[in-house]
Amino acid sequence: MHELALADSVLKAALSAADDAGLDRVERIVVRVGELQQIKRDLFEFSLTEVLPAQDVRLAEVEFDVSEEPVRFQCRSCDTDYGRADAGFDNDGDEGEAIHFIPELSHAFARCPSCGSPDFDIQAGRGITLVRIDGSSEDDPG
Ligand SMILES: [Zn+2]
Repeated sequence: MHELALADSVLKAALSAADDAGLDRVERIVVRVGELQQIKRDLFEFSLTEVLPAQDVRLAEVEFDVSEEPVRFQCRSCDTDYGRADAGFDNDGDEGEAIHFIPELSHAFARCPSCGSPDFDIQAGRGITLVRIDGSSEDDPG
């Protein structure tokens, strides 16, 4: 139920943002899922789109835009910023599969393309981000 819990927190954040913006209806929720986030995307999107919106009338007409945020590494030795393709592993292969499920393993596979160091920080590609919500209020003529 990991995916359901994550989807639930995304919707709670979206509704809280709707409150702040004075929106009575949320029409679109834009979410980014990090490439390294340990999640079953189909289950997450199903929870997001089919299971949870029924709990709140403001979400009756909502549409979701879920995209993947590519992973970005930053080398701790030379500050080079690099992506998965430059890190020396292929996410479609066995290594990528292992990394997808255990992000910490990326340290065993990734190498800085500039200096070869395996020591890096992950700048992007983890976690789930609520990027934006669109909606309208009752006072809104449109
Ligand atoms: Zn480096």
